[in-house]
Amino acid sequence: MKISIFFFSILIITMFQNVKIFPQNNNAYNFDSDSAYKYLKSQTDMGVRNYGSEGHTKVQEFIKSEIKKMDYDVNTHKFKAPYIPRRNGENIYAFLKGRSDKYIVITSHYDTRSVAEKDPSFIKRKEPIIGANDGGSSTAVLLELMRTLKQKEGKLPYSVAFVFFDLEDDGGIYNKDTYDYSDPLRTDWIQGSIKFVEDDIIPKNKIYFGILLDLVGAKDAIFKYESYSYQKFNGLYNYIWQAAKSLGYNKYFEASHWGAIVDDHYPFVYRDIPFIDIIGMGYKYHHTHEDTIDKIDKKTLEVVGNLVEHIVENPPNIKNIIK
Ligand SMILES: [Zn+2]
Repeated sequence: MKISIFFFSILIITMFQNVKIFPQNNNAYNFDSDSAYKYLKSQTDMGVRNYGSEGHTKVQEFIKSEIKKMDYDVNTHKFKAPYIPRRNGENIYAFLKGRSDKYIVITSHYDTRSVAEKDPSFIKRKEPIIGANDGGSSTAVLLELMRTLKQKEGKLPYSVAFVFFDLEDDGGIYNKDTYDYSDPLRTDWIQGSIKFVEDDIIPKNKIYFGILLDLVGAKDAIFKYESYSYQKFNGLYNYIWQAAKSLGYNKYFEASHWGAIVDDHYPFVYRDIPFIDIIGMGYKYHHTHEDTIDKIDKKTLEVVGNLVEHIVENPPNIKNIIK
C-alpha cells in the first residue's frame, strides 16, 4: 500500500454515534489463533511469494486446496495487471451463504513484495521479502475466519464473500518515472482489487460493506483509521472501533488517523461502497528482510480474527451509520 497526506485538510472528524452495547464475553468466538498461526507458517515455509516466484504459485495452490477442504466452492478471477506491463494475476474468492443475499466482503492480499527497499542492508534491497506480516498474516486470518464461519453457514445475518487479492504489493518498482501518482486508481499497487472492482465480480448492489485486512500479525500492532475510507464511511469505522473496545481491545485500536493509504479497499471506496482497512501501519520491519515469522504474535491474530467474526455476527445497520 502507499501513503499520501493531501487528504488531511478536508477530513472532518465526527464523534462516535449510534453506538451499540456489545456483550463483554468473547468466549463465544471460535477463531483459533493456533490454527491461524499454522496457516501463516505454511506460507512462510514456502519462502518468498512474489509474482513469478515458485512460492507465488505454491501459495495460490495452498489457498485453493485449503478452502476446498473446508467445503467452499473455489472461484478465480484471472486478470491482466492494468498498470504493470506483462503481468497476469489471479484473485481467489469464495462465498458463504447467510440469511440475506447481500455480502459482507472480507479481503487480504496474498502476494509478497519483490523488493525490500526499506532494508538496512543496501545490497539486499533488490531481493524479495518473506512477508510474514505483509501478505502472510492477513491471509492466515482470512483462512481461519473461513474455517470458523463455515460452521455457521445459513445462520449468519449476511452472506460473506472472502477475497484473496493478487498483485497488491509490487508498486513503485517497475515504471516509476512514467506514470501519474496523483490518481490512486492509476497505480501499480493494488492491481488485483482494481480489476476485481472494474470487472464487477461482485456487483456493487450486492455488497453490504467490506473489511480489508493488512499487516495484522505484529506484536503490539496498532490499528488506526485510513483516511480515504474514514472521510466517506466514518460511521462504519466508528462502529467497528467501538466493537473492538467492547471486546477489550482498546490497546490495539486507536481513534486517530494513519493518513490516506492506497490499499485494496480503495477501488471499492472510490465507487462509494462502504469499505474499511484494518491496517497495522507503523510496523518496524515493513518491506525489509526482517518481516519474518518471529515478529508475529498469535494474540494480534486472535484480536483481529475475533473482532471480524464478531462484526460478521453483529453487523451494523449500514443505513443508520452512513449518510
Ligand atoms: Zn507491502
